[in-house]
Amino acid sequence: MKTDRLVRDFFGGFIKIHILYHAAQGPIYGLEMIEELRRHGYELSPGTLYPTLHALEEAGYLISERRVVRGRMRRYYRITDQGRRVLAVARARIRELTDEVLLDK
Ligand SMILES: [Zn+2]
Repeated sequence: MKTDRLVRDFFGGFIKIHILYHAAQGPIYGLEMIEELRRHGYELSPGTLYPTLHALEEAGYLISERRVVRGRMRRYYRITDQGRRVLAVARARIRELTDEVLLDK
């Protein structure tokens, strides 16, 4: 699936939930998330992912710090308490959504 308006506008929320979920497991960085999202079928360019990470940090759901890893500066993101609360709400909404959309009631 290409990075286009459909992905950004329609699946932007899914992508944010993936990011929050992985940031809750441990610190993440941009390129790692691009690969992880590719594994889930989302082709995101850095030009799409980085503004999303910044927006999540701006909103208070992630916090970042720069670290030098093997001579390279990397920005790592961790989830905040506020991010964990949003993720918990998202989980409940996902359950609600899948109960209706996938279980063919
Ligand atoms: Zn994932």
